Order: sequence, then structure tokens, then C-alpha cells
Amino acid sequence: MAEMRQETDYVKHHIQKVVSFFLAMRNFQEELSVKGHHFIYLKIGDNHNPQHLEKIIQKYVNETGADFFEYQLPDEYRLDEQLKDICKGLSIETEAVDSEHFYTTRYELKNFFSDKKQYLMESFYRTMRKKHDIMMINDQPDGGKWNFDHSNRKKWKGKPEIPHERGFRKDVSAVVREIENAGIETMGNIDAKSFSWPTTRADSLSALNYFCKNLLVHFGDYQDALHSEQKFLFHSRLSFAMNSKLISPKEVIDKVLDHYYEHPENIHISQVEGFVRQILGWREYMRGMYWALMPNYRHCNELDNQNKLPDFYWTGDTKMNCLKHAITQSLDEAYAHHIQRLMITGNYALLTQVHPDEIDAWYLGIYIDAIEWVEITNTRGMSQFADGGLIATKPYVSSANYINKMGNYCSECHYSHTKKLGENACPFNALYWNFLDEKREHFANNHRMNMMMSLLGKKNKQELTELKERAKKVIEHPELF
Ligand SMILES: Cc1cc2nc3c(=O)[nH]c(=O)nc-3n(C[C@H](O)[C@H](O)[C@H](O)COP(=O)(O)OP(=O)(O)OC[C@H]3O[C@@H](n4cnc5c(N)ncnc54)[C@H](O)[C@@H]3O)c2cc1C
Ligand code: SF4
Repeated sequence: MAEMRQETDYVKHHIQKVVSFFLAMRNFQEELSVKGHHFIYLKIGDNHNPQHLEKIIQKYVNETGADFFEYQLPDEYRLDEQLKDICKGLSIETEAVDSEHFYTTRYELKNFFSDKKQYLMESFYRTMRKKHDIMMINDQPDGGKWNFDHSNRKKWKGKPEIPHERGFRKDVSAVVREIENAGIETMGNIDAKSFSWPTTRADSLSALNYFCKNLLVHFGDYQDALHSEQKFLFHSRLSFAMNSKLISPKEVIDKVLDHYYEHPENIHISQVEGFVRQILGWREYMRGMYWALMPNYRHCNELDNQNKLPDFYWTGDTKMNCLKHAITQSLDEAYAHHIQRLMITGNYALLTQVHPDEIDAWYLGIYIDAIEWVEITNTRGMSQFADGGLIATKPYVSSANYINKMGNYCSECHYSHTKKLGENACPFNALYWNFLDEKREHFANNHRMNMMMSLLGKKNKQELTELKERAKKVIEHPELF
């Protein structure tokens, strides 16, 4: 196993992300060494570490006199290509084995949709439920419905209480020093004496247990909620543990279902279905879409967005309260929950027409769970509509109205969420109408946009001109807002 500059430097990562990956790798090596497995382990600061995958494999194939090279299929296209190339250069036999860390194989989704017009997540999810017999009763969905999405949209108003996060509170100062000494450039903040991400299997299982006992009961209801004082609400924070393969999605779903079937009187099925859908549905769907659409997906920019990402994405220094909270939290915790990513930072970037390369690099760096297969599909596809509607059937854009409906950011903001024009009008409002107007031709044939486009059509000309002027100012001078 090797900690490599190749991996720390392909994008600027959050410091907590680098620490978590190194610790997860080191702990994995330690746990398996105790069981008698043999490792060559290269730390980032080791003098003899070549820091590059090809050089490392060649070096150790030669030094050990290996006559066979076998690897597990990586999750990223970049590494997949690299490993294939490396194998071509080796004079020994090579073989790749599939990963067992997903419910699906790489091309299962592509095959599933091969004769269909649209890649609809819902139909894939239902098939997965049946195939894996998850929440099914005689071929029918448990609870009588496949999807409880409509009951998953509550605003959190201080109640029900959110039990304190358990946390692991480890001192990781030594690893942070190693990373600094190696000269790796990172972003974001870390409280190195009290680090709380799960980086062992035991940590991950305990986080999963904690979620089942304390948070699952309200997960579905508040999964779309936003709150200035609650960074995590009822979210599980299990994405890093799953993406780094400390635990598998099947383990997570099995445990959640066991807990539910043991306590059916306490937990409503809508909470459980909401959670299962995220993992069995969205997570597997994103992985399948990634392998179906790469490598071209990396360059898609259907809306032809060209603007720069505002500097405040790296500091949180803005008067817009929702963005200030979502960005500051991301810098402090390497975490934001789904609606913060989609409807705050993602929404603003799309409305201000930021180039997808810029926004991709930011998401790929800042979040603890960001690995390209799940980051790019969520960012370019779901959040930025850069694929023209393959993943999301309409762009996830909103004015202040939605943000105010789902949380309390607006009530504490410098701007007024109800005002469209004037110095203290919420910038999202002007940006929203400007975006619809500028991208009109892209949405002309999208029936899911009909209502929004017909409202745009009814806008008074003078008002639209003024909204567009304000939007122009916001886009050209983000530092003023
Ligand atoms: C713009 C954008 C970028 C994102 N980038 C990433 C990323 O790099 N890595 C990543 O793992 N997730 C990403 N997501 C999806 C989602 O936001 C995170 O998985 C989630 O916030 C992780 O926190 P959690 O573990 O507390 O999730 P919970 O809310 O507790 O959900 C449980 C699990 O469901 C899975 N899940 C939920 N939504 C999705 C989704 N849309 N796609 C895939 N899996 C999902 C995750 O594994 C998550 O751990 C992104 C979403 C958006 C809108
Ligand atoms: S008023 Fe606008 S900028 Fe302020 S928090 Fe609400 S949506 Fe965000």
C-alpha cells in the first residue's frame, strides 16, 4: 500500500480528507498485519517512496521477483486507465478482479438502460429493490409504496432534539505534521487534537450503530432540512466510511433494516425507505452512470457556462448567510449535507453560470467523501445540469423562496428573501430569473421546465431588465455581496 503524491496532488484536497485516507490505509494495514498478512507499506514521507503508482509497481515487481500482478478494479476512470497501461508495460502475467464493495458491477446500469430512452433513477432503484429483496413483501414494496419522498421534506424548527454526535476525538497531529513536512498543499481547517471522522472499521461500525439508534428515526423527515446551528441534522456521515471501503453499502443497509425490523413500533418505514433509497438507489445509480458515461462526461458543459468560481468559496467571506454557513462549515468539517451541496453552493454556482471544471475541482477537493465517480456525477450531472439532463431531468435551481422554506438561514441574513430588487434584495432572486432567461433555448423542449418558463414569459419587460442588471452585478462582482 502506498501513500502517493500522485494521489494527494491531482486536485487540492481538504486536509481532513488526506488525513482520513492515510489513517484508514494505515489502520487497515495494521489490522491485517496482526492477522498475519504481509505488506509493503510506503508512507508519504518515506525517502524510498517513488510517489507514483507506475514507478512503485515496477520497483516492487522487480525487487520481489513477482511472477504475477493482480489488482482490484479501481473506482475511478483515471486509475483504471493508468493500471491498464502499467499492466501493458509489465513482462509478467496480470489480472484485474472486480470490487465487491457495491451492489452492482460497473456496467450493470448501462446494460439495464441499454434499450431505454432515459436513465431514470426510480426505475433502476425499483429493480434493485426486487433483485436484492430489500424491503419487499411478495414482490410488492413494504409499506405499499416504493417511494416516500413526499414525506421527506420537513423544515427543522428546533425539535425533535438531535442527539449529540458521538464522535471519536482522536489526536491526529502527527499525521498532519507528516503531510505538512511533505509539502502537500491542502485546503480547509482541522482540529488535529480532536479529529472525529471514522478511520477504522470499528469506528465505522460504531458510527453506523449510533446512526441506527439515534438518528434513523427522523432521517427521512428532515433529510432536506437546512439549519444554521445544526451542521449534520439527522444525516449519517457514513459516506467516507463507505467510499473508502471501511464498510460496505450492504453492511449499512442490512444493519439499518435489522434495526428497523427489531423496532417497527418506533421507526416509520418512510425514514428507512428514505435512507435505503440514498444508498441502494442514488449511490449505485451514480456509480453506474459514471461508468456508462466516462470519459466524455468529464468535459460536458451543455449550458455553456464560462464564469469563474467566486473567491468566497475558499473563505466563506460573503454576506449571503446561506452560502456563508454552507462554505464555512465545509471548510471546517470537510462536510456539508446533500441539500447544502445541491441547493446552496451548487445552486449559486449554476445560477452564476460557473464553468463546470471550476465547480468540479472545488467539490472534488473539499469534501471528505469526494471521489470522482460519485463527485462528478453529482456535481456536473445532478447539480450543474452540464450533461443536459441525463442525470437530473431538470436543473436544480431555486430563488430564495426554497431556501427560506427549508431552513432558517434567511431569517438571519443581511438580505431580504422576499425582495427581488434593491440593495438588500436576495441575490438568488435576480440570479434565478436571469438564469432562466439566458438559458431559454436549452429548456425549450424540457416539459419539466414548462411551468418555470411560462412564469418567465409572463414577467413584465421592465422588471426583467432590472433583474438582469442586478444579476449581472452579482456575477461580475461577487466580492460586493
Ligand atoms: C454537488 C454534489 C456533490 C456531491 N459529491 C459527493 C461526493 O463527492 N461523494 C459522495 O459520497 N457523495 C456526494 N454527494 C452526495 C451526498 O451529498 C453525500 O453522499 C452526502 O451528503 C454524504 O453525507 P452523509 O453520509 O451524512 O449522507 P446521508 O444523508 O446520511 O445519506 C446516506 C448515504 O447515502 C448516500 N448518498 C446520498 N445521496 C447520494 C447521492 N446523491 N449520490 C451518491 N450517494 C448518495 C451516501 O453514501 C450517504 O453516505 C454530492 C451531492 C451533491 C449535490
Ligand atoms: S436571503 Fe438569500 S442570500 Fe440570504 S440566506 Fe436567504 S437565500 Fe441566502
